[in-house]
Amino acid sequence: MRNLRTISIDTRGNTAWIQTGATLGEVYYTIAATSRTLAFPAGVCPTVGVGGHFSGGGYGMISRKHGIAVDNIIDAVIINADGEILNRDSMGEDLFWAIRGGGGTSFGIVVAFKVNLVTIPETVTVFNVSRTLEQNATQIVHKWQYISDKIDENLLLRLFIISVRSPAASNGNRTIQASFTSLYLGRVEDLLPIMEQKFPELGLVEQDCIEMSWIESTLFFSYSYTATFVSKSPRAAYFNYRDLDIGRNNIEGNTKYRQASVWGFKYFEINFNRLVRVKTKVDPSNFFRNEQSVPPLSSN
Ligand SMILES: Cc1cc2nc3c(=O)[nH]c(=O)nc-3n(C[C@H](O)[C@H](O)[C@H](O)COP(=O)(O)OP(=O)(O)OC[C@H]3O[C@@H](n4cnc5c(N)ncnc54)[C@H](O)[C@@H]3O)c2cc1C
Repeated sequence: MRNLRTISIDTRGNTAWIQTGATLGEVYYTIAATSRTLAFPAGVCPTVGVGGHFSGGGYGMISRKHGIAVDNIIDAVIINADGEILNRDSMGEDLFWAIRGGGGTSFGIVVAFKVNLVTIPETVTVFNVSRTLEQNATQIVHKWQYISDKIDENLLLRLFIISVRSPAASNGNRTIQASFTSLYLGRVEDLLPIMEQKFPELGLVEQDCIEMSWIESTLFFSYSYTATFVSKSPRAAYFNYRDLDIGRNNIEGNTKYRQASVWGFKYFEINFNRLVRVKTKVDPSNFFRNEQSVPPLSSN
């Protein structure tokens, strides 16, 4: 898809057509070159491709306020298994639903997405504050679990937990460090009272914070990207963090619904059944298939 990477922005309608071979970095750069107050809510890493990322979800640092990439897709152009080029009207709402979260991979080749751009302040604030066990990390993480989804929606408090060499130990002992990598859609003077009221345990001070533009913040966060998290009991997964250990299709030939639903329900829960119905309708011969593509019922 690398030759299909054109990004056309309509600043009057606050929309953009984005071809799927573009990277997130190209999307963010093109938007920022057009306007300081427009943005798009998607992932933190600039090298990620639009095709897989948008069709599988796409969350990032402004997603608490503005949703994820699929929430902001309003049209698409797709090539189906018969080679037809369809837009939202001609593909119908079922297929349009499926490629906004179900992944493009099972249903066709998405050539471009039309998206709504969102409005953000010219200045945002970032901080990356770390606390070890010796610095009260256990209590801070405990509190974070209760406030991170309720605090002001302009603030996303992202948490990474890693093992580090203890700063207090001379003998090489290790400790656990919690890092709060965060973005506030606004200025530091507005952020500090929120933190003081809702999350004083972190002890955030002005010196921890840096004001910058949104495009600068995308670079700040891509440097600090570290890892994903795996859920347990039951083990589930986010479709864009593909996990082949939760089950896969046959290497050759078709795969039965029952076998595919082992991994399918872990990504999509009950929506897996609707994705199977869409697949059966738009690609009954299972032309678009891979180790975790949605199977059509006709292949059973
Ligand atoms: C470094 C890194 C950072 C990441 N950060 C985030 C993050 O912050 N937030 C987040 O939500 N996710 C994140 N991800 C996960 C990312 O969203 C997924 O890896 C996503 O699938 C990448 O899409 P791609 O097009 O680059 O990859 P690809 O491997 O090219 O594609 C992934 C899947 O989508 C299909 N696909 C790709 N393009 C199309 C198309 N045009 N039409 C139909 N199907 C297509 C492919 O067949 C494949 O099955 C990150 C991944 C990496 C590697």
